[in-house]
Amino acid sequence: MDRNRILEGQVAIITGGGSGIGRSTALLLGKQGAKIGLLDRSEDEAAKVKEQIERDGGECIVVDTDVSLAEQVEAGVRQIAEQWGRIDIVFANAGINGTWTPIEDLSPEDWDQTHQINLKGTFMTVKYAVPYLKRQGGSVIITSSVNGTRIFSNIGASAYSASKAGQVAFAKMAALELAQDKIRVNVICPGAIETNIGENTNRTEEAEEAAIPVEYPEGSQPLEGKSGSAEQVAELVLFLASPPSSHITGAQIFIDGAESLLI
Ligand code: NAD
Repeated sequence: MDRNRILEGQVAIITGGGSGIGRSTALLLGKQGAKIGLLDRSEDEAAKVKEQIERDGGECIVVDTDVSLAEQVEAGVRQIAEQWGRIDIVFANAGINGTWTPIEDLSPEDWDQTHQINLKGTFMTVKYAVPYLKRQGGSVIITSSVNGTRIFSNIGASAYSASKAGQVAFAKMAALELAQDKIRVNVICPGAIETNIGENTNRTEEAEEAAIPVEYPEGSQPLEGKSGSAEQVAELVLFLASPPSSHITGAQIFIDGAESLLI
């Protein structure tokens, strides 16, 4: 099989494509021939990714979208499908760390915000894409986290961890439900990856104080002695989006340099 431009003729939707894992994936899938629809609430960052994809010879549309708002997700998905006539790949990746604080201090509003973006946003991205994916089959990849099933020392991350666990269960249910439509659904669980996500974490002093000390230097994953890169995650997404993974669905794949095996 010619692996050069393996996604030629396909259309990919990527949420959170303006930064980090979503950005690297958009650039890689674009180089492999996919037309890229970026849904992100950071329109300026997404516009820079679009420019890079176009410099690389690809095509990209940016739709300013908050994935926690149903009408915006529905409109964004429809706009991309109408522009290019199809959707083959959905990377439901937008997410936030949100507020990290002990449970007794965590407000119901902060809980809701994390769940509305991470979990409900994933559900809605998939929901509104399914009618288009059903036409010819396709591949959905969801970004969860090692926190979705293995709990680290991050005391205070209860809302985040619960939302990430929800994504794993949702992905497996969706894989079974959508198999008859030839839609594959897989969920990836990154460990620490060098991106901007940490900068936007609202981690309280109480959470810092409650954190259980880890016995290895932070960011030092056994495999490479450092955090992973967004480009490494993008390579996994490319594999899951493309024909070499045609028999894989409902899989939960850790990409963490063995970090989660330490605990
Ligand atoms: P990032 O902050 O670099 O990128 C996240 C992107 O999502 C940004 O472009 C942001 O604008 C967008 N986004 C956030 N909320 C949004 C909303 N409501 N609507 C639309 N777009 C929104 O972070 P990242 O590390 O690339 O994170 C991507 C995914 O990877 C997230 O789901 C995150 O939970 C997951 N993850 C990251 C790590 C890590 O260490 N970086 C580890 C495990 C899982």
